[in-house]
Amino acid sequence: MVYSPLSDAVMQAYNTVFETPDSGLLATYIPKLATVDPNQLGVALTAVDGSQMTAGDSDKLFSIQSISKVLLLCFAYRQLDAKTWERVGVEPSGTAFNSLLQLESDAGIPRNPFINAGALVVCDLVLSLYPHADAQLLAFIQWLADDDTITYSPEIATSEKQVGHRNKALCYFLKSLGNLHNDPEVVLDFYFNLCSIEMSCNTLSRTFLFLANGGQHPTDNKQILTTSQAKRINAVMQTCGFYDESGEFAFRVGLPGKSGVGGGIVAVYPKRYAVAVWSPRLNEKGNSYRGMRFLETLTSLTGQSVF
Ligand code: GLN
Repeated sequence: MVYSPLSDAVMQAYNTVFETPDSGLLATYIPKLATVDPNQLGVALTAVDGSQMTAGDSDKLFSIQSISKVLLLCFAYRQLDAKTWERVGVEPSGTAFNSLLQLESDAGIPRNPFINAGALVVCDLVLSLYPHADAQLLAFIQWLADDDTITYSPEIATSEKQVGHRNKALCYFLKSLGNLHNDPEVVLDFYFNLCSIEMSCNTLSRTFLFLANGGQHPTDNKQILTTSQAKRINAVMQTCGFYDESGEFAFRVGLPGKSGVGGGIVAVYPKRYAVAVWSPRLNEKGNSYRGMRFLETLTSLTGQSVF
């Protein structure tokens, strides 16, 4: 562990959150996620120089859920570039992550790639681009993370599929509106797999480091996205990463980030670091209660935000 004011701040923020009472509920609508021990808390920060600071359950695997939508988007965006935005928008929706409300009036173009409707369209884009989309996306994520042990969790994917009626409704609705080109069942299977990816905070912070590094892979120096594309992904995370709590996250934390209903949050401080936190209890918007508090405390202690 490297000692610096930053590592002190990570420890102090971790201790503050660990010592204050938790709040919220597990994502029980996915049966498998209801079985997770809710009291866990892990944090990991990886800096662009490769140094890493961790605390608590930073090595434990958890379901990253919607956080993987960012990686999916990057996978499509590096091939399609501006064409991506013909099928999905970049505006905050102001609605819940699984809402169907705006789709009909928006002619089937989801407001952004991080609500479920948007991610389903990006799944469809990727399925049209890659003949073995499941395996090819996983290989891309393993490469970003420098970790070939990352996998989908069949238990979590199956668990969500059994109760995923709203996602099925969204997918078929998109098909009826003409913004889905593949078989909806194939898109849904890919989507449930995507959401089931497991990582630790350690790995998650490493995986997102290229977004803090101008789109460049931190260890092999390959350009994953152009600097401009990385800026745009960070912009969409900033404005849409927390659904109808994106304004609140910007207000309290001030970093681009993305949450998932597994209780993970990853945030990016451009040119410096990526930081991941995991605590399974969620607030009423589906974002980790202690995760938000940790990041708010961290950016308050360091004064480091994009604003
Ligand atoms: N798999 C979850 C769903 O589709 C993802 C939601 C999330 O993490 N916000 O409902």
